[in-house]
Amino acid sequence: MANTSSAAKTAPTNRPQPITTLRAWLDHLAARDRLAVIKPGTALKFELAGIANRFDGRKATLFPRPDNHPMPVLSGLTSDRQWMAEAMGVEPSELLARFQDAALNPLPWKEVESAPVQQVVHRDVDLTKQLPIPVHNEHDNGAYITAGLMIARNPKTGVQNVSIHRLQVSGPNRLGALLLPRHTYTFFDMAERAGQPLDVAIVVGVDPLTLLASQAIAPIDFDELTIAGALHGAPLPVVKCISNEVRVPAEAEIVIEGRLLPNVREMEGPFGEFPQYYGEPAKRHVIEVTALTHRKDAMFHTIVGGGLEHLLLGGIPREATLLAHLRRSFPNVRDVHLARGGVCRYHLYVQIDKRQEGEAKNIMMGAFAGHYDIKHVVVVDEDVDIHDPTEVEWAVATRFQADRDLIVIPESQGSKLDPSTRNGVGAKMGMDATKPLDAEEMKFKRIRVPGEEEIDLDRVVGKESSAKWRDAVGG
Ligand code: MN
Repeated sequence: MANTSSAAKTAPTNRPQPITTLRAWLDHLAARDRLAVIKPGTALKFELAGIANRFDGRKATLFPRPDNHPMPVLSGLTSDRQWMAEAMGVEPSELLARFQDAALNPLPWKEVESAPVQQVVHRDVDLTKQLPIPVHNEHDNGAYITAGLMIARNPKTGVQNVSIHRLQVSGPNRLGALLLPRHTYTFFDMAERAGQPLDVAIVVGVDPLTLLASQAIAPIDFDELTIAGALHGAPLPVVKCISNEVRVPAEAEIVIEGRLLPNVREMEGPFGEFPQYYGEPAKRHVIEVTALTHRKDAMFHTIVGGGLEHLLLGGIPREATLLAHLRRSFPNVRDVHLARGGVCRYHLYVQIDKRQEGEAKNIMMGAFAGHYDIKHVVVVDEDVDIHDPTEVEWAVATRFQADRDLIVIPESQGSKLDPSTRNGVGAKMGMDATKPLDAEEMKFKRIRVPGEEEIDLDRVVGKESSAKWRDAVGG
C-alpha cells in the first residue's frame, strides 16, 4: 500500500491513484513529514485534543498508548485542502469537480464474507474500557465519539445512509446522539412510529475519501458509500455486522453496532461544535450498543470539534454541491469557496465571469436557496482569488458600494448553531463586489509589474551571505 505514495512521487507524469485505505494514507502523510507521532501516554482528557489542535492544518497526529490504553488514537487526517486533492489523485483546482463527478457516477459496493474490522469481537461491550475515547473541549459533557460514520438502513427500502453525528458516551453500552432533521432522522422516525428501534453501525477509522464521501449533500436513499467507491475507482468492500443487517466498510478500524431506541430521549451536551461555540444540552436520541468489533491492531480516529479537519470535511462536499447547483442556472459561475473564517459553512465566496449587470444578486439568491447554512455571500470577478480572504476583502473595499450592491433578507432560516440567530432564524446578506461592465478600462485595472511572476529568485539572489552586503556594494 505504501507504493501508492511513492509511485505518485516518482512518476509525476502518470496520474496518481486515489488512496483507498487509512494505512496507505498514514504512509502518504508520513512520507511528506505531515504525521506527528506523539510520545506514549498522552492524557485522553484535554491533552490529546490540545496537541492535535497545535498541529491542526500542518500535521496529522498519532497518539500511541493514550492514558496507557493499548489502542492508539489518530487526529487531523484531512485538515488541509491540498491533502484532500492528493487523496483523490487530482490537482486542488479539480477537487470539487472530481467530488461532484463521483456523486453523479456512484459505484455500488461489493459484499465480502470476512473482514479485518471483525478480527476482534466483543459481545459484552464496555466502551469506556475497550476504546480510548477523548474529552475534547473545556465544557464538553465528557467523552465523545466524533469521527464515527453512522450507517443506518431505510426500514422500508433497505437503502443505507451514512452521516457523522456527535456521540456522547453516556454509559458502558449507551451513547447520546445529536440527529439533525436529515436522512438518518427520517429513517429513525419511520421506525419509531412503528414502535421499533433503528439498527445502526458506527464506523471509526476509515480512509480519507470514505470520510469525505460521508459528508456529501446527497438526496435521501442515496448511499454515500457508493460515492466512496467512485472516489476510490473500485467498489468499496463491505461486510455485514455481527448483530444486525447493516453493511460496513470491511477495511475500517472499528465498528460499534447498536440500535437507536424508540421513545427514549436522554440529556446530551454541551459539546464544542464547528462554529467554535458549544452546542447546548437537551434531551436527545439514545443508542444502545449491541456489539463492538475491530482490527487486531485497531486505531481510534477522533475529530477535535472546531478544528480544520472538522471544518473542511463538511466544507468541501458542500462547495461541490453548491457549485453544481449554481452552474445549473448560472453557467458563468467559475468557482465557489466556503471560507474558513465563516467556519466553512456560513460565508460563501463566488467567482464569476460577469456578463450581465445585476446577475450577481440573482446568484446570491441562488446560493441562499442552495443551503440554509449560507449566511453571507460575496460575488467577485474572475481576477479575484476566492481562496485568499485578503483578496476578497480587497474586492469588497474597492468594487462594492453598500447603497447599491448590498442585499439583506431578514428573518430567514439559518444555522441553529449560529448563536447570533434566534434558534436558527436570522438575516442573509449578499455583497456584489464585481466591477461595473461599462467601466472605463484603466479605472479598475489592477496594477502589476510585467515579468514579476516569471522571476526565478534562486537565480537572481547572490551566492554570498547577506552579512557580507558591504562587499556586494563595494563599500
Ligand atoms: Mn444521506
